[in-house]
Amino acid sequence: MYLFAIGDGKWVIDPSVNGNEAQWINHSCAPNCFIRERQGRIFIHALRNIRAGEELFYDYNLETDDDVPRTKAIENECRCRCRSPRCRGTLLAPP
Ligand SMILES: [Zn+2]
Repeated sequence: MYLFAIGDGKWVIDPSVNGNEAQWINHSCAPNCFIRERQGRIFIHALRNIRAGEELFYDYNLETDDDVPRTKAIENECRCRCRSPRCRGTLLAPP
């Protein structure tokens, strides 16, 4: 389960609580969507034309809290297996 940090990170959106279908969008290192936060809300935008029925993906670019070091355990937990030729092997944002 992943949370959206909003603004300065003091608030989060938990998509599993009263969330909509967007909570099921998976990560890909070659996404067709991106996320933009505006005024405390999350908007999903297309990076290109998306065919009907095509699965939506965005790059999670996960970050740990400032006081949580990026450990090997966290890196192992966030391994990516998206099979994209551009897969960087992690759901984490580049350091
Ligand atoms: Zn990947």
